[in-house]
Amino acid sequence: MEFVDLKAQYRRIAERVDARIRRVLEHQRFILGPEVAELEQRLAARVGAKHCISCASGTDALLLALLALKIGSASGRNSPDEVITSPFTFFATGEMITLAGARPIFVDIEPVGHNLDPEKIEAAITPRTKAILPISLYGQPADMDAINAIAARHGLAVIEDAAQSFGALYRGRHSGNLSTIGCTSFFPSKPLGCYGDGGACFTNDDALAAAMEQLRNHGQQGRYRHTRIGINGRLDTLQAAVLLAKLEVFDEELTARAEIAGRYTALLKDSVPTPRLLHERTSAWAQYTIEVDDRASVESSLKGAGIPTAVHYPTPLHLQPVYAELARDVGWRIGSFPAAEHAADRVLSLPMHPYLEPHQIEEIAEALKVALRGPVGASAQRV
Ligand SMILES: *Cc1c(COP(=O)(O)O)cnc(C)c1O
Repeated sequence: MEFVDLKAQYRRIAERVDARIRRVLEHQRFILGPEVAELEQRLAARVGAKHCISCASGTDALLLALLALKIGSASGRNSPDEVITSPFTFFATGEMITLAGARPIFVDIEPVGHNLDPEKIEAAITPRTKAILPISLYGQPADMDAINAIAARHGLAVIEDAAQSFGALYRGRHSGNLSTIGCTSFFPSKPLGCYGDGGACFTNDDALAAAMEQLRNHGQQGRYRHTRIGINGRLDTLQAAVLLAKLEVFDEELTARAEIAGRYTALLKDSVPTPRLLHERTSAWAQYTIEVDDRASVESSLKGAGIPTAVHYPTPLHLQPVYAELARDVGWRIGSFPAAEHAADRVLSLPMHPYLEPHQIEEIAEALKVALRGPVGASAQRV
């Protein structure tokens, strides 16, 4: 069994993907070829944003957003800019804030969606705060209206890390187009994935769009005229071609993911805390993540039954070795963000992709129930 079965997907869409790739091989415009522009138009139309700027990864998307907003060293300010974000995320979120020359300021999550808790944000705002960067974790959007309202009161930008949530809705609006800039990833195992690295930024602001378009291409405004310090962060034409083929089945895949999540929950809800969707939200179901008390033993029992699992993520960012100095400076330690730390100790993601068969879901659920009972003989030993 695969955690994410990309081969099953390829068996379904091989003809479309091969045809799209072949066209690129024929025209040979590998850098910013016609597929890139076509993809950007389709993605922008899909989320209802004025602009889509594709780029080389979700990580680059975050960096481009921060650079376009002149947050960090690009600001020219002496004291470090601050960006409020969640400590319970993939490392890239905090990493790009730091790489841009700003400081990530962590705020705890709410325990249901595992996203930035809007009630805790305002206390963390200082005169140095420039933006709020919520993550829409596991595919479910953060409470973006509440976060946008706080940002508006304080004159801050909001960057949504929608790397896991492309395809999800919040109050009928698309994740990725819920704030100043939305960033997503096309890493192969994300809900919409390419065959390598890829990403995109969305915005409705013309000036930010122009800035990100230049920044992803060495800050060029016209050929060899450099008006900004940027990066080589373009999306490959080949990856755009793969994404165009995959977009044709994406809505069906989202429906399949939601059905699979529903099946899991029906089978597991009496045994273990299952994922819950908050009010007026859908999920792209990048992950189906439960919470267990004795994770190590559940993981090894499932592994023994041939079922792959993953932990997203075992260590919150404020406890990462690289942030030890920042943590000392700001005063973060174990216990600083109890909801994030509690989740990090307990979350366990089960296999999730649109091609999971009902019999596989049943097999996983049965194996999980056995695993939750603990190792055979453990209770006897305790007596
Ligand atoms: C995957 C991911 C990223 C990084 O995306 P890449 O395309 O791998 O660079 C950033 N943030 C979150 C929350 C992610 O899940």
